[in-house]
Order: sequence, then C-alpha cells, then structure tokens
Amino acid sequence: MKEVVRDLELAGVQNVTLNEPLSRHTTWKVGGPADIFISPRNKAELERTMAVVRKHGLPWRVIGRGSNLLVRDGGIRGAVIKLGAGFDDLKVEGTRVIVGGGYSVIRLTSMVAKHGLTGLEFAGGIPGNVGGAVYMNAGAHGSEISRVLESAEVLLETGEWITLTNEQLEFQYRTSSLQTKYRGIVTEAVFQLQYGDRKEIASILARNKDRRRKTQPLQYPCAGSVFRNPPGDHAGRLIEASGLKGYRVGDAEVSTLHANFIINRGQATAKDVLTLIHHIIRTVEEKFGTTLEPEVQVVGEG
Ligand SMILES: Cc1cc2nc3c(=O)[nH]c(=O)nc-3n(C[C@H](O)[C@H](O)[C@H](O)COP(=O)(O)OP(=O)(O)OC[C@H]3O[C@@H](n4cnc5c(N)ncnc54)[C@H](O)[C@@H]3O)c2cc1C
Repeated sequence: MKEVVRDLELAGVQNVTLNEPLSRHTTWKVGGPADIFISPRNKAELERTMAVVRKHGLPWRVIGRGSNLLVRDGGIRGAVIKLGAGFDDLKVEGTRVIVGGGYSVIRLTSMVAKHGLTGLEFAGGIPGNVGGAVYMNAGAHGSEISRVLESAEVLLETGEWITLTNEQLEFQYRTSSLQTKYRGIVTEAVFQLQYGDRKEIASILARNKDRRRKTQPLQYPCAGSVFRNPPGDHAGRLIEASGLKGYRVGDAEVSTLHANFIINRGQATAKDVLTLIHHIIRTVEEKFGTTLEPEVQVVGEG
C-alpha cells in the first residue's frame, strides 16, 4: 500500500486513510476496514485516483452514505472511494436539476420542493446519495428514480467519461445497468421534474416523512429494507407471518415495527446480521416456498 499512497500523494490526492473502519461509513454501523479509503474532492482528483487504482491493479468500490451496504467484518480489500465536497453541487435550470453524485437525496428533495418542482417527493426519506440512488434505482411510495432521471454522468473504471441516458441505464426494480454493464462512478445526475404547487409538494413530503417515522425503526442503525419484495408480495409480510419479528442473533434483530428491517441494537457484527439474514431466508422458504433475495448489497470479506 505504501506505493499506492505515494502515487496518490504525487497525484495531489489528499484525503487518503489506511485501514479506515467502514462501520463509520455505513448506516448499520457494522463492517471491517477498507485497506485504503479515498475521498477525492473533485472530478480531476477522482480521475487521478482511478489512474492510480488502475496502475496498481487495485480492486475498488465506490460508496455513498452506506445506507444499503452490509460490509463484512473482514472489511474491503483495495480501495474504497467516497465522493468528497466537490460532488455536492446543485443547479436548477427551469425544470431540470443538475446535481452532484455526492449530494444527499433527502437534501435534494427539500431543495427541489423549495423551487416548486414536483416529481421527487417519493424520495423524501431515502438516506443515500444521488450516485447510490441512481445505481440502486431507489424508490418508494409507488415511484422510483427511473421516472425522473434524464441522464447520469459516469467515470468508467477505464478512465473514460460517459453520459448514460435513462434508457441506457436500463432501470428495473432496484437495479440499473450500472450494476451489470457499466462499472464506474456516478459523478452527476440530471433530473427532469415538473412545476407544481409548493404547498402541495411540502405537504406530500411531510406526509411521507410522517409515515416513515411511524412505520420504520429510525432510532436504530439499519439499512432500510433488507430484502427485495418478491413479485406480488411484500418481504415484510412474509417475514412477519413467519413469526420472525423480534428474532435476534447477537445484537442484530428483526425490527418489531417493520419486519423487513434488521436493526443494530448496539454491538451487532456483520456476521450477526448475515446469520440473521440466512435464518430469515430459510424460515420463509420453509413456510411459504418463497426464496427472499437481499436488496442490501453484501460486500467485503468475512
Ligand atoms: C432508514 C432507511 C430507509 C431506506 N428507505 C429506502 C427506500 O424507501 N427506498 C429505497 O430504494 N431505498 C431505501 N433505503 C436504502 C438506501 O438508502 C438506498 O438504496 C440508497 O439509494 C443507497 O444510497 P447510498 O448513497 O447510501 O449508497 P451505498 O449504500 O453507499 O451504496 C449502495 C450501492 O451503490 C453503489 N454506489 C454508491 N454511490 C455510487 C456512485 N456515486 N456511483 C456508482 N455507484 C455508487 C455502491 O457501490 C453500492 O453498490 C433506505 C435505507 C435506510 C437506512
């Protein structure tokens, strides 16, 4: 790693840490260390970071707010990249909104609401960044990113910059072609919204927020819905009907408020969470013959 650090220094990349605990960067507050954690401050620094990553053949991964990630206790080998301050811009041009990949989705929803723009109300309580939301095609309340996204700017791992249109992103339920075809980093997104009534937008946002507060265990570290909804059903319903609410492995617990959430009661490890995930899958399979698939992304080494 010494040579990688030296090359990053020579490239003027400043925010570099070795053995950074990823529990500090995930909303579950679990996960081992990243060998090298880099937070480039702007596009030029990101380009240079990726050039160093390529030169050393390092495995790499980008993270946003870690709100959909289960990082195993052994951590992540190679480089973990988190977009820094220079990816936090927002520009409103009429009904088009151009926003950095590191911008918070929650902040984005309140900013566009202030401009009287409608279309992103569904995303009100999604605690990720714009880049992660595009990658995941995040959604809620019957809508999703694919409905309002015009395009995304991506730095591919090859070093090439491309702009992917909505069509090229091939959005489906909680997936995009970024997960399959285009391995890279979303640095900017363009949303196409519509003019709406400011008061109405604010009241929808408030209603959605209230609903989340009542139905989700937001006072505990968690990663939102753990499993994808199987076609025609809800993962939460199946887990609850399997009698698993409150089931616990170590400090990882199936929320009693929302069965598709696993909360960290304090000292949970990734191993606890994974053991619980496997127990849920087995139990639901035995009871209903449905195999639940995780929506959270499990990464790193055990
Ligand atoms: C309380 C709570 C409620 C939630 N509610 C919802 C909900 O209603 N709907 C929903 O869809 N999700 C929900 N989530 C899950 C999560 O917030 C979303 O999946 C979110 O889009 C993830 O964004 P992130 O920035 O945290 O990404 P991370 O969790 O950091 O990463 C997720 C994936 O995206 C990739 N990624 C991150 N940034 C980039 C980038 N710039 N370029 C390319 N790839 C990138 C990562 O490599 C990783 O594979 C919830 C989570 C919590 C904790």
